[in-house]
Amino acid sequence: MPEDCIFCMIRDGVIPSEKLYSDDDCFVIRDINPLAPTHLLVIPNRCFSQLSELVDEPDAMFASVFAAARKMAAQEGIAESGYRLIVNQGSDGGQEVAHFHMHILGGKSLRGLGLG
Ligand code: 5GP
Repeated sequence: MPEDCIFCMIRDGVIPSEKLYSDDDCFVIRDINPLAPTHLLVIPNRCFSQLSELVDEPDAMFASVFAAARKMAAQEGIAESGYRLIVNQGSDGGQEVAHFHMHILGGKSLRGLGLG
């Protein structure tokens, strides 16, 4: 893990950030620069940047990431109104933080922003 990985530092409590949820595989925080009324990040505990780094991984960790997204959407009250899950990968994907994470965006209509 890179020593300057911001999400590792949040995971380890080196940088304080309220964890809304955590389990053995992942944790959830609010995005520091929210782009919607609800903007959360589901972050695996394991530090890797892109799917391309993984080879024949067991998928339990990703199951936990999606389960966390489902639970958080319900907790935030956006499960019925809908939300968007985004994983940015690499430069063209617009990824800024090189520790894999899934954005949960909701609380307003995201139609018209592209991709639906
Ligand atoms: P990416 O562009 O890599 O998919 O998204 C990274 C996200 O992490 C951005 O939306 C950015 O606002 C968020 N972020 C960056 N640094 C921090 C931080 O220190 N705390 C929190 N809560 N979010 C951060």
